[in-house]
Formats: sequence, structure tokens, C-alpha cells
Amino acid sequence: MLKRCSCGGDMNLVLRTVIFAKKVNINNVPVYNCSMCGRNDVFPGVKEDVGKLVGQLGSKPSPRSIPFDQVHEWAGVLSQAMNRSDSLQAAVIARAAEERVNQLLDLWLIASSLEDETWKMELSNRLSQLSGQYIS
Ligand SMILES: [Zn+2]
Repeated sequence: MLKRCSCGGDMNLVLRTVIFAKKVNINNVPVYNCSMCGRNDVFPGVKEDVGKLVGQLGSKPSPRSIPFDQVHEWAGVLSQAMNRSDSLQAAVIARAAEERVNQLLDLWLIASSLEDETWKMELSNRLSQLSGQYIS
């Protein structure tokens, strides 16, 4: 998963801890990192949701750690892919994403048969995090 930096260097997709207001550690945030100039860009597919999360924390958050890969499906898929190979390869990510979608769909079927509307809603929300965001 490579992206070109404005300095001309290659940017690699990595999972990092983002520290907010020097107090809150947001772990496993997908970030493009440039090996030449050190620039970091949050992965576009999760940028909005990182923003929302930070917005919810407010201006005086209490110190804590948030596992972003458990909050956001994309970060979850990327951390799965990272566990399977040393670097984030498109094919590995695609496979991890497909597996996660299938898993969520299976759960959705169970939720549906139980007529559990709250669970169904949560699962659709997770599925929508994965759809159409896999674009750099
Ligand atoms: Zn650069």
C-alpha cells in the first residue's frame, strides 16, 4: 500500500498511536508515513471517524487509551492484515476485508433471525464503515 508524498518520497501505510491533547492515546490508527520527510497523513478512509472520535473527547479529556482498531472496522481489518504479513499489501488487506464483511453478514443474519434491532443497527453501521472507503 504505497502512496506518493508531496516531497517525492514513498509513503507506507502503517498503524500508529496518535496522541491527542498529550493525554489520550488512540492506538492502531492507519496512517501514511513518508520515509523521506517523515510526514504523516491519516488514512483517508478513517479520517472523518478519527475526527469524530477526537470531537467526542472534547477539549479536556481524561488520560486514557482507545484501541481504534476496535472502534473502526477499517482499522480492525488493517490490524488483522498486519498480523498476517510484515507490510500492508493490497491483496492481504482485500482478503482481510472480505472475511470481515462475511463475518459481519453472518452476524447480521443471526441478529435478523433474533429480531434484534439494536444489534442489526450496530452491524449495519460497522458494514457501512467498510464499504466504499478503500480508496487512497
Ligand atoms: Zn515526504
